[in-house]
Amino acid sequence: MISIRSIDFHYQYGEFSLSIPEFHVARGEKVAVIGPSGSGKTTLLNLIAGILTPASGTVSIDDTEVSAFNDAQRRDFRITNIGFVFQDFELLDYLNVLDNILHPYRITRALTLDKAVRARAVSLADAMGIGDKLKRFADDLSQGEKQRAAICRALLPNPQLILADEATGNLDPENKTLILDLLFKIIEEHDATLLAVTHDHELLKRFDRVVDFQDFRRQDAA
Ligand code: ADP
Ligand code: MG
Repeated sequence: MISIRSIDFHYQYGEFSLSIPEFHVARGEKVAVIGPSGSGKTTLLNLIAGILTPASGTVSIDDTEVSAFNDAQRRDFRITNIGFVFQDFELLDYLNVLDNILHPYRITRALTLDKAVRARAVSLADAMGIGDKLKRFADDLSQGEKQRAAICRALLPNPQLILADEATGNLDPENKTLILDLLFKIIEEHDATLLAVTHDHELLKRFDRVVDFQDFRRQDAA
C-alpha cells in the first residue's frame, strides 16, 4: 500500500532532515508510529500524503508514484484516496460541522456529493457522538469534538489509506475507546490500511505492527 524508497527530505528553513531508505506498509495493515516529539512523525505522514515532497527518492501508494505528480495531481489523489486526520484537525472555522465533513466532496470533481453521501455523513457523525452538533461552527467545538469531526471528514470518502496523526490525543478514555473501535471497524470493513501516530502506549496492542521512529532513523544512519 505504502512504499517509500530512498527518500531524503529537508524543510526549506531549519535544520531538520529525514532520510528513509525503505519503508513499506502492506494493504490492510494497521501500523502505529511512535517516537518523541519533533522526531519527524508528522513530516513522514505529510510525505506519504503528498503534502510534502522529498528532495529525492520515491513515495508510492499502491502503484501510483505520488512523488512524481505535480501539486494539483497530488492534491486530487490525496482527497480521493487518503483519509488524513491532522494533528491540528484543520477544520474550517467558518463552516459548520456537517459542511466540514462534506468539504472534500466540494473541492474535487473526483468525488460526487449526493444524498447517499450526506446520509452517510450524518450517520458517521451520529456514531462518533457529534450528531447533535452538525450545525455548529467548528470554532465552537471542544477539542475532542473537533477531533471527532476531523475523523468523520477523513473517513467519509471510504479511503483505502488512513493516516492519523495523534487522532485520539484529545479524547477522554471513554470516547477514545468508542472512537477507536469505530475507526478500526470501518477500516476492517473496507480492508483499508491505517498508519497512525500515537503517544498512547495502551493502544499499541491493537495494531499489527509498531514502528518506533527512533529505531527507524537509527537504522537509516547505520
Ligand atoms: P513530530 O510530529 O514527530 O513531533 P514533526 O514532523 O512535526 O515532528 O517535526 C520534525 C522537525 O521538523 C521538528 O524539529 C520541527 O520543528 C521541524 N519542522 C516541522 N515543520 C517545519 C517547517 N515547516 N519548517 C521547518 N522545520 C519544520
Ligand atoms: Mg507531530
